[in-house]
Amino acid sequence: MADKRDYYEVLGISKTASDDEIKKAYRQLAKKYHPDANPGDKEAEAKFKEASEAYAVLSDADKRRQYDQFGHSAFDGGAGGAGGFDFNNMDMGDIFGDIFGDLFGGGRTRRTSNGPMKGPNVRTGVRITFGESVTGVEKELELNLKEECHTCHGSGAKPGTSTESCKKCGGKGQVVYTQQSLFGMVRNVQTCPDCNGTGKVVKDKCTDCYGSGYVTQKKKIQVSIPAGIDNGQSIRIRDKGEPGVNGGERGDLLVEVSVSRHPIFQRQDYDVYSTAPISFAQAALGGDVRISTVDGDVLYTVKPGTQTDTKVRLRGKGIPTLRNKQVRGDHYVTLVVQVPTKLTSEQKDLLQKFDNAMNDKPDTDSTEPEKEKEKEKGKKKFFGK
Ligand SMILES: [Zn+2]
Ligand SMILES: [Zn+2]
Repeated sequence: MADKRDYYEVLGISKTASDDEIKKAYRQLAKKYHPDANPGDKEAEAKFKEASEAYAVLSDADKRRQYDQFGHSAFDGGAGGAGGFDFNNMDMGDIFGDIFGDLFGGGRTRRTSNGPMKGPNVRTGVRITFGESVTGVEKELELNLKEECHTCHGSGAKPGTSTESCKKCGGKGQVVYTQQSLFGMVRNVQTCPDCNGTGKVVKDKCTDCYGSGYVTQKKKIQVSIPAGIDNGQSIRIRDKGEPGVNGGERGDLLVEVSVSRHPIFQRQDYDVYSTAPISFAQAALGGDVRISTVDGDVLYTVKPGTQTDTKVRLRGKGIPTLRNKQVRGDHYVTLVVQVPTKLTSEQKDLLQKFDNAMNDKPDTDSTEPEKEKEKEKGKKKFFGK
């Protein structure tokens, strides 16, 4: 295991990559190198395995933490390992089912027979304003969700009739195929297509649900969106997905949050960036300027002789972190000196006089402005809360 490549390098992502970025990166590699797409290509197979292993670790929060801390030795069971974990014992089906389910159309394996199965997850989206992403917000979503049919209590059979054992799977709910794979010959256990894993088929269908056992209902669901949420992040609401089979728990509802752009503020991680105009006189003489922040306007005192494009940091005026609302990023403001455009003749006169006065002074040329600039760079002014 000596010259194993770094998992982040394998997936071509940064150490701070989000779950979505990890998934996206892996999805691309898997698509490219999947053995089905590259029959007989050993190099592609090796790349596929490498990427799959990297994904298996980095997509799991606990394993990722161990890997970040101990590197590959975390999973060697060696000295530095935090318990060690055996890659060969991992349930590949569960990890990749999600991705390959989408990629190669179905074929998702399930290990359970006709026992309880968790229902599928439901995905939806919600749009919020930039302001709402800073403060957090409660949203009510209206969704069409599958519910157990009250007439047949989910059996799908007409009341008074009963279901029969499925002939295809013999009531087991699963069918077994043997298949050659990357990891040797594997028994591929699949959900029975005839009974969808229930082990039962309906002869006389319930008329209310047409034999499916479910009816679709409009449901209102409250979503608590935490302060600090960023565009593209998802919130998982347990047990609000589709119902499970044979008494299994419901799937989850995944709500992807889209944050609308703000006309002034731009967000990067937990920091906010914006520009603020200051007048030429304010820049030259110094004084208080009004700066918009996510908390409202604040007064900031600029030094005399402030140059355009000077950046100031408003500490703690950024976005609250998801983990702790009190811990916030910073707000970086670029001050832009405005050159006046519509001048009255009186103002023009004054400016001309001012210009003449500047030019008449022998000691204000060449060296002096350079010194000013140097000073400007050396000084860093922070703005307390
Ligand atoms: Zn029914
Ligand atoms: Zn069956």
